[in-house]
Amino acid sequence: MVQMTVDSWVQPIEPRFSNLFIEEWQEENRKKGKKPQAFDTPFRYSDAGKCTRYLCYASQAYEGEEFDKPSTFVTGLGTEIHEMVQGAISRKYPEALFEVPSHLVTSSGHTDGLIPTQDLGLVQYELKSMGGTAYKKSIGITNKGISNPTGPRYSAILQASLNAKANECDTVIIGHVALESVSRQLAERTGLSEVERFISEWIIPKEIWEPLADGEVVRQMGVLEDLEDGFFSERIAIGDGGEEVYLDPENPRYWQCSYCSMKSHCIKDGPGRVPVEIKEIA
Ligand code: SF4
Repeated sequence: MVQMTVDSWVQPIEPRFSNLFIEEWQEENRKKGKKPQAFDTPFRYSDAGKCTRYLCYASQAYEGEEFDKPSTFVTGLGTEIHEMVQGAISRKYPEALFEVPSHLVTSSGHTDGLIPTQDLGLVQYELKSMGGTAYKKSIGITNKGISNPTGPRYSAILQASLNAKANECDTVIIGHVALESVSRQLAERTGLSEVERFISEWIIPKEIWEPLADGEVVRQMGVLEDLEDGFFSERIAIGDGGEEVYLDPENPRYWQCSYCSMKSHCIKDGPGRVPVEIKEIA
């Protein structure tokens, strides 16, 4: 038998074949351009919970940086998963509607699903795909065993709540699909079912989601007031506990800034509530 060692292969710095699809995806995205907004509102539902400074740039149609290859991959996989899940729901629930555009006073978007049910009324369905670590955290599984589930991200609940409000829904359901399953060994130790190893759902009643939607609209109105006064807002995002998080794009501890497409504008404009020349507000 041939013994394999590190001398048995050559790992090129740049792959030759395996990365071709991602270059195609990037090219397709460039051709498609920015996804058109459902309605002419300053913000999108998907901006829910985002930093107030980001909301200023987004509403003023600032050009963001292009997605890098890893972000293109994750977003592209997410789109594929959405289409698979929505297709299966539509075959089981033919009266369900998908990608319906709607708007509130500050934001607009498309629903992942509006599904009429007997027991939960009209459901606003929101789907999130995620890596294995984020999934385990959401259902309360660590490599050592069971911990407190963190549930869906606060920003995902806010996004779904805005959609639910605009579509006059009764219940929000957020679905999680993990890109990597919990191992069989860990599932046996923690009592997870076959499906729970990579899919979970979270039911959120109206008395919880509706005040969240109202609060997010008020927060976004504050950004519009800053713009009307001729200022870009301070850099405040909503954290995973619903708390305000003061961001600093020059401090690496803030993951929101690491992934922000407006980072270079933000660094250039500086901290605080900064006076600017405001373009026409959408
Ligand atoms: S870099 Fe950070 S603080 Fe600046 S807009 Fe983006 S998320 Fe907000």
